[in-house]
This record gives sequence, structure tokens and C-alpha cells, in this order.
Amino acid sequence: MRLQSFTFNPLGENTYIAWCEDTLQSVIIDAGMYNSHEHTQIQQFLQSNNLNPIALLGTHAHIDHIFGNWWVKQTYSIPYYLHADDVKMIDRSETMAALWNLAYTPSPSPDIFLNHQDQITFGNQTLEVRFVPGHAPGHVIFVNHNSKSAIVGDTVFQGSIGRTDLPGGNHQLLLDNIEAQIFTLPDDFTLYSGHGNPTTVGVEKNTNPFFN
Ligand SMILES: [Zn+2]
Ligand SMILES: [Zn+2]
Repeated sequence: MRLQSFTFNPLGENTYIAWCEDTLQSVIIDAGMYNSHEHTQIQQFLQSNNLNPIALLGTHAHIDHIFGNWWVKQTYSIPYYLHADDVKMIDRSETMAALWNLAYTPSPSPDIFLNHQDQITFGNQTLEVRFVPGHAPGHVIFVNHNSKSAIVGDTVFQGSIGRTDLPGGNHQLLLDNIEAQIFTLPDDFTLYSGHGNPTTVGVEKNTNPFFN
């Protein structure tokens, strides 16, 4: 699996494009693109690499991860996958945008609900879905065993963890789920977070202050 990251919108969110090198089928993960310049970046990347997007996957539905959902849906007409427990975040997103004074075009509703242990396949690549609530009630991560990597959204960051003071957050639940679902991956797995730089399971297990 190949992966490209983009950092978008005023909240500095990481959007990812993952693809299969053999078939050029791809998925967009967390569509945070905020304006036409950021839409163009995604469009040009897909075009110049001849990638064919087949799905939009959401780790969770906080507003910084869904700004571009309407645009992806309108441009590519692909199904939007999200865990059912985060639909309430989508319902709340217009209020959140107004609260934070951010321009927001409403997100479409998910087409397909994600569940723990689902497998998402594009070309010859597979993402394993793991349910990791705590930062958001319906937060999932996507694990690709082939490339020893996981897209972990706002669960764990380099040296930190996701905030749990937003509606639906639960600090202890987040810590327990990171240990059960992320720190059980091999140490050399790379973790691609929703904000900031990539890290690894081993580094976070040994140095993350929330666990040491
Ligand atoms: Zn979040
Ligand atoms: Zn975020």
C-alpha cells in the first residue's frame, strides 16, 4: 500500500490518500480539504498518479475531518464509510462550525457503516477496521498489515493523545483502547495521525507521556 498525506484546513488536519500500486485503486481517508486550493491539491494528486478513488473513509466525524466530504461526494460520487456512533457528530457539525466561526458546507450522511474487524479492500490492499472510541464515540482506525502501518486519526499522536473534553469524549476509554487496539500491533508499525507527524507503535509505547 502506498500512502500520501496532506495537511488541510485551519485546524491542521491530515488527510490521506492510500492506494494499491498494482491496480491504482485508492481510498481517501478523512476529507479535511477546506477551500478550492485544497480541493485542487487532491484532484491533481489523483490525476497525476492515475489513481481511481473508490471510497471515502472516516476515522471519525469531528468537523476538521469532514470539511471536504461534500466536495468528495460531488466530485467522485463514491460511498462514504463511517462508524454509526459518529453520525451524531455529523448532525452537530453545523453548530460546531458556527461556534468556531468556520465556513462549512454540510457533510452528506454515511452510505455504509463501519464495524470493528471489517475489511476494506481496494485493488490488492486491505485495511482492517479497529474500533477505538474515547476521543470520539465512533472512532475507528485503519490498519494495513502489508505496509506495517495504521491510519489512527485522533487517537494517538507523536508524544500525545486525542483530546477527550469534546462531547462524547472519555479519557480512560481512550487510554484503554489505545493499549488494546494500537499498542498490540508490532513495534515497527508506523502510525499516521490526524494531526502532526507520523510515529511508530514502539516509540509511543515507550515514550508517550500518557502511558509512562
Ligand atoms: Zn477529532
Ligand atoms: Zn482532528
